[in-house]
Amino acid sequence: MTNRVEEVYAEVVRRNPAEPEFHQAVHEVLESLTPALEKNPHYADYALLERLVEPERQIIFRVPWIDDAGNVRVNRGYRIEFNSALGPYKGGLRFHQSVNRNIIKFLGFEQIFKNALTGQGIGGGKGGSDFDPHGKSDNEIMRFCQSFMTELFRHIGAETDVPAGDIGVGGREIGYLFGQYKRLTNRFEAGVLTGKKLGWGGSLVRTEATGYGTVLFAQSMLETRGESLEGKRVLVSGSGNVATYAVQKAQQLGAVPITISDSSGWVHDPAGIDLDLLKQVKEVERGRVSDYAARRPGSTFHDKGSVWDVPAEVAFPCATQNELNADNARTLLSNGCQVVSEGANMPSTPEAIELFQGSKILYAPGKAANAGGVATSALEMQQNASRAKWTFERAEAELTAIMKNIHDDCLATAEEYGDPGNYVLGANITGFTRVADAMLDHGVI
Ligand code: GLU
Repeated sequence: MTNRVEEVYAEVVRRNPAEPEFHQAVHEVLESLTPALEKNPHYADYALLERLVEPERQIIFRVPWIDDAGNVRVNRGYRIEFNSALGPYKGGLRFHQSVNRNIIKFLGFEQIFKNALTGQGIGGGKGGSDFDPHGKSDNEIMRFCQSFMTELFRHIGAETDVPAGDIGVGGREIGYLFGQYKRLTNRFEAGVLTGKKLGWGGSLVRTEATGYGTVLFAQSMLETRGESLEGKRVLVSGSGNVATYAVQKAQQLGAVPITISDSSGWVHDPAGIDLDLLKQVKEVERGRVSDYAARRPGSTFHDKGSVWDVPAEVAFPCATQNELNADNARTLLSNGCQVVSEGANMPSTPEAIELFQGSKILYAPGKAANAGGVATSALEMQQNASRAKWTFERAEAELTAIMKNIHDDCLATAEEYGDPGNYVLGANITGFTRVADAMLDHGVI
């Protein structure tokens, strides 16, 4: 890091105490910007870096709701509107007990560069709540979403800030949130939320997009070495939306995904994950991966170790932040893993990333590899604005082209900066340059 970048980072740590994931995300980006700042010193003008690491607006609010037993419950809601240089703030809402300001800030910061990489004219933001959806009834989920939106509605809009889903927020929750927004504003403003169901403004492929995109990115990386996913064993962590559709796309491309996981443990299915059973257990029954293992002969459930212990050629971390540590990275490398493509946001620890980068494997950071979800949200916004409805084929073709562009842009930037194959540097500098140029054009705001 240059002195300048170190100073900015030290100030972030000082001003944002006890926010380790936010520090981690900022450090990872700033570290790789050094060559860009050396080449283009004007990026340090007008306190650009200092402004970049400070969210434009942070909203924290009370979310009271009444559970089925009649008790009043209180959660905390967040929306961090981080950067709008390239377009309206865009990013998901996460409902999970681990959510706090630190988590939402790290996610919002990552989102700025990810969204810039998509080339779709969207700024970066993120939100959510420490509400735990596990074990809640449908009515409880609805009342919580209505209360959450009763505050959030005054801060968002199709041209202002466009939330979507993330962990714990899917089509059902987006539906309740949208209904309440519509009631409060008396406007059917389709473009205010993405991840909507198909009948009322949603886009085909949005559900599949993050998982599909992560696998497409891995395929593009393999192509640079004249290889493909065909016949390769694949590890997937997680069992939500991203993991499920990573499994599907990997299978479509001839690979064999053999693991899934959740917070209670993980499943090894050497014959290859049964996608229909996975969807039935997770999407229809809202069950656990142990329910999958109980109904799938030949598969095993484990509550110790992790999916990264299983030998395979490709790894898709699709669960959550810092789920893959240095020990896991060492195991993957010694088992001959050749590709790691991140479906989750910041799933690898800094030590794991260092090990990947010190080896010859292909490693793609989440902000590039998982950008397909938010890119397809932008396609949903496009359809909403024009009142159009694209076919699955059209939306998938657009997603595929966007992922290919992101891959090629990262590759070209890494090469331009003399570090071919460094997708971390490629993603961070490409995203940063787009945001920084727009911020300089807009003046000191
Ligand atoms: N939560 C997703 C992400 O991490 C999608 C955000 C969106 O579609 O706005 O990128």
